Amino acid sequence: PSPASNSADAHFLQIQDVVKDFSGYKAVNHVSLDIAKGEIFALLGSSGCGKTTLLRMLAGFETPTSGRIILNGQDLAGLPPYERPLNMMFQSYALFPHLTVWDNIAFGLRRDGLPKDEVAARVDAMLKLVQLGKFAKRKPHQLSGGQQQRVALARSLAKQPQLLLLDEPLGALDKKLREQTQIELVNIIEQVGVTCVMVTHDQEEAMTMASRVAVMSEGRFLQVGSPSEVYETPQTRFVADFIGNVNLMEGTLDEDYADHVVIGCDDCKHFVGHGITGTQGMPVTVALRPEKIHLSRHKPADDYNTVRGTIEEMSYFGSFTVYRVKLASGAMLKVSQANTVRQRDDELTWGDSVWAHWSRSAHVVLTQ
Ligand code: ATP
Repeated sequence: PSPASNSADAHFLQIQDVVKDFSGYKAVNHVSLDIAKGEIFALLGSSGCGKTTLLRMLAGFETPTSGRIILNGQDLAGLPPYERPLNMMFQSYALFPHLTVWDNIAFGLRRDGLPKDEVAARVDAMLKLVQLGKFAKRKPHQLSGGQQQRVALARSLAKQPQLLLLDEPLGALDKKLREQTQIELVNIIEQVGVTCVMVTHDQEEAMTMASRVAVMSEGRFLQVGSPSEVYETPQTRFVADFIGNVNLMEGTLDEDYADHVVIGCDDCKHFVGHGITGTQGMPVTVALRPEKIHLSRHKPADDYNTVRGTIEEMSYFGSFTVYRVKLASGAMLKVSQANTVRQRDDELTWGDSVWAHWSRSAHVVLTQ
C-alpha cells in the first residue's frame, strides 16, 4: 500500500512512548510509532522481545503502564477490547467447530444485532472476497488449514474494523501453505484497505507481507523501515544478523591512509570502503550479504572490497549455490551465487583458490 497522503491518514495509529511494566520488568520499553492508514505493519522479533505484549495493548487485553495509543484521533485508554474499533485474529483460528463457514462469519454480526439483510450481504461479500463461496455450508473440519485461515480472516473483517491485529497469523500452517497464504492474505487485506498490525517471529513472513517492519529486541524498537531498507541498510549488528543471512566481519577504521576499514589479520589485510565518520582505530563491523559477493579465480582489478580465500564447502540449491570460503585470517565468508547460464571453465569447486569481490555499495559499516 502507498503511504497515506494527508497528515491524519499518516498518523492513523499513534503509539506514543508506551511502556508495559510487569512487576519491575519492562516487556515494552518506551516505544513510539506512527502507522499510516492502509499500512500492513509487522512487529518482528524473537521470543520474549515484547511484540505480543504491544499487540495486546493495542487490542485492549493489556493496559499500558504509561504512554498513549491513539487510533484515528481517538485515545483508546480505558476502552475495553470489545468497544475498540478493531479486531484481532489469533494463530489458532478459533472457528466454532459446530457452525458452518457462513455462520462462523455471521456470528459476530448477529451478536451485534445487525439486521438480517445486512448480515447476509456482508457474509456473502466476505465469502466472495476470500473466495470460499462454494464452501459456505461446510464445517471448519471439512476445510484445509489455509481455507480455515481465510474463514478466520473473513470473520475478522466482516465487522469492518478500522484496525486488524494479526497474532502470528500463519503459525499453524506448514511452510509451503504459509507462503501461498501470505500472498492471499495480503491481497485480501489490501482489497479491503484495512490498516493492519501483525506480530511474527518469522522474518520472511514479515518481509513478504508488510509494507514496514519494526525489529524488536528487549522491549525496544531497534529499527523501523520498509523490508528492503531493513535488509539493505541495517543500522545495528543485531538487525543485520536477525534479517536474512549476513557476513559480519570485524575491522578497524583507518583514517590516516584513506577512508577505509581494515579487516583480516596483520599479514592478510583487506581494505573496505566505508563513508562513516569515526576515529582512527575505531572498531567496526562490516556487514555483507552473501548474494552480493562475486567469486572468481581471477584477481579483480580493484583492490578494495576484495578478499582472497579457499572454497571449503559448497551446497547446491538448484537456482543458487552457497560457498563457504576460508579467508587467510581464518574467518569464513559465506557467498551465494545464482546458477545462471555459466561457462564450464567458470565452475568453482572445493579447494579452489578464489577472489571474492563486491561493489562499494554492497556492504554496510556498523558501529553498534
Ligand atoms: P513470543 O513470540 O514468545 O510470544 P513475544 O516477543 O511476543 O514472545 P511477549 O509475549 O510480549 O514476547 O513477552 C515479553 C516479555 O514479557 C517476556 O519476557 C514475558 O515473559 C513477559 N510477560 C508477558 N506477559 C506477562 C505477564 N502477564 N506477566 C509477567 N510477564 C509477562
